[in-house]
Amino acid sequence: MKIKKQQLPDKSGHYGEFGGCYAPETLMGLLIDLEKEFQKIKKDKTFQKEFDYYLKEYAGRPTNLYHAKRLSAHLKTLNVYLKREDLLHTGAHKINNTLGQIIVARRMGKTRIIAETGAGQHGVATATAAALFGLKCVIYMGAEDVKRQSLNVVRMKLMGAEVRPVESGSKTLKDAMNEAVRDWVTNVHDTFYIIGSVAGFHPYPVMVRTFQSIIGKEARSQFLAKEKKLPDYLLACVGGGSNAMGLFHAFYNDSSVKMIGVEAAGHGVNTHAHSATLTKGEVGVLHGSKSMLLQDKDGQVQIAHSVAAGLDYPGVGPEHSYYQQSGRAEYVSIDDQEAVAALKLLSRMEGIIPALETSHAIAYLEKLARRVKGKASVIVCLSGRGDKDMNQISKFV
Ligand SMILES: *Cc1c(COP(=O)(O)O)cnc(C)c1O
Repeated sequence: MKIKKQQLPDKSGHYGEFGGCYAPETLMGLLIDLEKEFQKIKKDKTFQKEFDYYLKEYAGRPTNLYHAKRLSAHLKTLNVYLKREDLLHTGAHKINNTLGQIIVARRMGKTRIIAETGAGQHGVATATAAALFGLKCVIYMGAEDVKRQSLNVVRMKLMGAEVRPVESGSKTLKDAMNEAVRDWVTNVHDTFYIIGSVAGFHPYPVMVRTFQSIIGKEARSQFLAKEKKLPDYLLACVGGGSNAMGLFHAFYNDSSVKMIGVEAAGHGVNTHAHSATLTKGEVGVLHGSKSMLLQDKDGQVQIAHSVAAGLDYPGVGPEHSYYQQSGRAEYVSIDDQEAVAALKLLSRMEGIIPALETSHAIAYLEKLARRVKGKASVIVCLSGRGDKDMNQISKFV
């Protein structure tokens, strides 16, 4: 295919018809300031130096690109490399983004950090970064999720964050997001809102992509050094889409490299219990941008489901909708059972226990192996480690 050189988003934050900034008037001033600050830091060596310092000294970058030899032999047609984001401090890629945003917050003179969290992973990564810089931190979390994810609540509290359970609506992620935005509108003067994926009002999707794109930059040069060529495929799970976009972006102009994003099919894409937004959704507006969205016939946002709490989001970042529409990437789905089986497979084959989210990408390897003629190489984003999922997985062992 012919690929247009990537200069997206445009000035108004659009990726083709997707993206944009659907925000209440009270937030527009702040979002414009944030956009200005973001344009500045892209060229600012002091920012880059500070960000690089924390990525390396605190989070543990660069992460390894590991050649999974036994898994490759098992799959026969695929030579598999794992980009080990699971080795980072806090056990997943999310820390890349929260460190970047907290440095931006400090530059803008903000002293209070807020975030919303579903499973608690983004809340933990945010509380970590806030503790590192001694900033006040409030995390909104649906009351149901507070119950289901009590260990992450303990982690956030230990690091000094205040966790506010949200009792409205379905008491899950989307209600927590609404509360966080409400707080932000009231306290914009001193408060910075850290969004956890490539979603939300412009400039968040491009800002989060920029902070996560280190994954693909490192993987590209590591793969070139090891194999003296580019990989044939990139594979990553997609919740909001930040680990996938982090891996994909550096390869955008490499037209020979095929990209596959793996969504959660939950109990099946033909049931009401899944999170396969790009496979089954329609165009709509959620959390400030236009993208694909799971909604009912009245336009009400549907409750998403996945065995992996971090994929359990009814929206997806606007740039993924654009990649799908333009054909730059392909999006597939894997159900709960297939993901659990893949978690076991990687654990036995390589001694690496992946997160349930990541296991969706691992599961697709077996399907890809059957599609490939001859031999192909693939980089999988190992977005996180499975320790957090041991309670849930124990009934399948
Ligand atoms: C949160 C999370 C995800 C999903 O988020 P993206 O923004 O789609 O990357 C995937 N893997 C892990 C380990 C996570 O914690």
